[in-house]
Amino acid sequence: MPKIENNIADVSKRIDQSAADCGRDPGEILLLAVSKTRPVEDIRQAMGAGQTHFAENYLQEALDKIAQLEGESLCWHFIGPLQSNKTRNAAEHFSWIHSVDRLKIAQRLNDQRPESLGPLNICLQVNIDNEPSKSGFVAEALLPVALQIAALPNLRLRGLMAIPRGSNNFQEQQTAFHKLSQLRQQINQSLDNSEKLDTLSMGMSGDLEAAISQGSTMVRVGTDIFGKREQQQ
Ligand SMILES: *Cc1c(COP(=O)(O)O)cnc(C)c1O
Repeated sequence: MPKIENNIADVSKRIDQSAADCGRDPGEILLLAVSKTRPVEDIRQAMGAGQTHFAENYLQEALDKIAQLEGESLCWHFIGPLQSNKTRNAAEHFSWIHSVDRLKIAQRLNDQRPESLGPLNICLQVNIDNEPSKSGFVAEALLPVALQIAALPNLRLRGLMAIPRGSNNFQEQQTAFHKLSQLRQQINQSLDNSEKLDTLSMGMSGDLEAAISQGSTMVRVGTDIFGKREQQQ
C-alpha cells in the first residue's frame, strides 16, 4: 500500500481505538486530512484511501488545489488565519471555516456566502490557553459572540475549535480539551434545540487520543498522514 494510504489506515485505527477506550462510537469522529503545503498528488493519494475531507490553512494555496480538484466529491475545511479582505473567497469555496476569531469575520462571511450554496458551517476558534501568540476568542468573551453569530442566517454555527499549547503529557492535553468541551456545553444551555453546537474540532497528530477522550468530533491530522512538513507551520 502506498505510504499515505497506509498512514490514513493507521490514523483511522488510532481513532477507533481511542473511541473504544472511552466508550464512544467511532462514527462520531471525522478525520480531516490537513493538506497544507502538500501537492495535489498527495491529496489524490489520500483520496485513494477513501479520504474526502481536507483542511487547508493558506487561502491562495487552497484555492489553487480546489480548482485543480474540481468535479471530485470533496469537502473543504478552512482552518488557518482569515483576514477580513479574504473572506469572500473563503465564503465561496469552502464548506467549513474552523477559524472564525472575530465577530466582524463572521458578519462578512454571512454577507458574502452565496445563497445557492446553503449556510456555511462555522466553528469559533478559542484561545484555550490564553497564549498571546495565538488567535481566537478568550473563553470569557465567547458566549455573547456565539449567540450573535448563531443568529446570522447564512452561517450555521456548528461548534468550537482550539489549538492548545503543545504538550507531550496526556493529562495536560486532556485538561485543555476538557475546557473546550465545557465551553460548548455552556453555550448550548443558551441555544434552542435546533441550534445546539454539535462539533468540537480538536486533536492533531500528537494529541488526537486526548481530544477524543474529551469529546472531539473532528480531528485535524497533517503530519501523521502526509509526513513531516518542510517548515513547521
Ligand atoms: C497544521 C495544522 C494541523 C495539523 O497538525 P499536525 O500536527 O501536522 O497533525 C491541525 N490544525 C491546524 C489549525 C493546523 O494549522
